[in-house]
Amino acid sequence: MYVYKEKCQVIEWYDNWVVRSVNWETKVPAVIMLKDYLKRRATPRYSKAGMYLRDLYTCQYCETELIRANLTVDHVLPVSKGGTLEWNNCVTACMPCNTAKGDKQLMKPRVAPYTPTYFELAKKRMQMPLQVKHPSWETWLKV
Ligand SMILES: [Zn+2]
Repeated sequence: MYVYKEKCQVIEWYDNWVVRSVNWETKVPAVIMLKDYLKRRATPRYSKAGMYLRDLYTCQYCETELIRANLTVDHVLPVSKGGTLEWNNCVTACMPCNTAKGDKQLMKPRVAPYTPTYFELAKKRMQMPLQVKHPSWETWLKV
């Protein structure tokens, strides 16, 4: 059973879906929000997926929006010059731009890399199209 009373906040319930067992009965929560999610850490740890989300799956050089498979991580300060894999040094780039840039620093990203907040990432995630499984989600997916 879910421990939703402790960790989550149920926002909406299915009206017609009730789970029963010998000792308890509950409606199935349709939308659960993890209370921990937004308050645990002020800044999320760097991840490639998070970076793509921060940049809205858009190449930061030519501003083309791409599917994930066609995106690459670009080190603004190249690895060869001591650049590291972190929020403040990495942007989303398409393959052609990343190749064109190479080890040179002549190309500058449209938006300088920065560390996003959880809130920003959560908000952007909600902007991205999702497979909606239940109509009650739709309310919560709009910005
Ligand atoms: Zn590009």
